[in-house]
Amino acid sequence: MDESIKEQYQVVIGLEIHIQLLTDSKMFSSDRAEYGALPNTNLSPVTLAYPGTLPRVNKKAFDYAIKLGLACQSTITDLNFFARKSYFYPDLPKGFQITQDTTPICRGGFVTIYSNEGEEKKIPLIRMHLEEDTGKSLHGMVEDITLLDYNRTGTPLLELVTAPVITTGEEAYQFLSEIRKLVRYLDICDGNMEEASLRCDANISVALKESKLLGTRVEVKNMNSMRNVQLAIAHEIERQIALLEAGEPVIAETRHFQATSGETLSLRAKETASEYRYFPEPDIPPIWVSQEWIESIRKTMPLLPRAYFKKFIEIYGLSHYTASVLTENKAFAILFDELCGHTTYYTAAANWLLGPVKGYLNELSLSLDSFPLTVDRFVALITLVESGMVRFSVAASQIFPILLQDLETTPMALAEKLDLIQDNDQVNLKALVEEVLTAYPDKVAAYKNGKSGLLAMFMGEIMKKSQGKANASLVSKFLEEALRSTK
Ligand code: ADP
Ligand code: MG
Repeated sequence: MDESIKEQYQVVIGLEIHIQLLTDSKMFSSDRAEYGALPNTNLSPVTLAYPGTLPRVNKKAFDYAIKLGLACQSTITDLNFFARKSYFYPDLPKGFQITQDTTPICRGGFVTIYSNEGEEKKIPLIRMHLEEDTGKSLHGMVEDITLLDYNRTGTPLLELVTAPVITTGEEAYQFLSEIRKLVRYLDICDGNMEEASLRCDANISVALKESKLLGTRVEVKNMNSMRNVQLAIAHEIERQIALLEAGEPVIAETRHFQATSGETLSLRAKETASEYRYFPEPDIPPIWVSQEWIESIRKTMPLLPRAYFKKFIEIYGLSHYTASVLTENKAFAILFDELCGHTTYYTAAANWLLGPVKGYLNELSLSLDSFPLTVDRFVALITLVESGMVRFSVAASQIFPILLQDLETTPMALAEKLDLIQDNDQVNLKALVEEVLTAYPDKVAAYKNGKSGLLAMFMGEIMKKSQGKANASLVSKFLEEALRSTK
């Protein structure tokens, strides 16, 4: 589509994010809430909504919701009611969903997003409310039959709703990435979009820029990665603009994203509030969230990603880029912070984490929890390189892999045993430089006449003579000095 047409339109996007809370039991029963169990094993008559069963509220789910609320500076609701929302699909056997309608646990607050160019934007939140999840309908496993797995039925969800202020798919991506980091740092959700423990619906509308009214919103569901959210939004914006340009209306509906074609397809007409027919849940008393309760949660709040990010830049002098990559993952941020309590080679520590450590974990699909190097040995390894004893590439390729297997030997002892200590003896190195330059007088002359590429050849010869052990940065310094002083 022509950019000049697109520029005439304003795009407005609001996100609804469903956060599956990592509680042991379900929102309104003691059934287990674990992921990946055999189908229909985590259920009881309460989940199956047998007559006479009664719901009971999960306190942990409130704790977790309050945590995220505090992290986003939301107002925490003191008097909480639950409501029934009509729901006529077989994956919720009660025929309604228990949710918070008039009293969401969190109101207001915001999440700050950061563009790649370092610009900040505050995305205001409308609300976050607690509710129960539906089960899973499995189509296509048996021909013409839909199977139902009720394990997920009744597991706790926190639904977060943003104000309609997001304007591009890129911003939606950044927002999701901040939310995913937050829930992981807070340990309230595993943040896995592929396994649907974090789900995002995008509400999208477009209108001519001069229009004072917002356009008709379309809700897009079914995007199981952050990238797909971005793609779905881009597609939906173009589709809506094309409709308006052709003089056709945008219909308020729910569409779903088809990853294979990159398109959104109509699913159903958008439900209206009157179809939900909310009414107060008579089986759950009001839940009072006291100031003491909120304060007890506040005390458990960990350092959040942004706080680490600032600390890494301001105290450890990292670049914005390195700090943002390190804080992407909570375990990396914590380990880096810990390392910096034991060494002042901050940049080197960051490079080790983002280079060899990340590489090792990725190769074996491990998480940092199973990383075997203790902080002490890690610091010893960093110091070995930074003090010039062993070259980084040698330490990374020859010492590091052994340290991961052999949990006893120190990095220094290993370097000695493997004969990897480099030659830092200045007299020795200067003599080597002289030796090589004297052996190639014609090459030295050629270098002086502008063949600067010969520097690498001299370096190579010297390193070869030292059997790879000469301290390369010292050699390079002495070599340049020697070449400058020879006529
Ligand atoms: P529902 O459950 O009916 O979808 P919610 O209140 O949960 O309603 O969510 C509404 C979402 O739609 C919010 O994220 C809000 O920001 C967004 N929204 C509202 N109006 C518009 C609009 N005109 N264009 C795009 N998004 C909108
Ligand atoms: Mg919605």
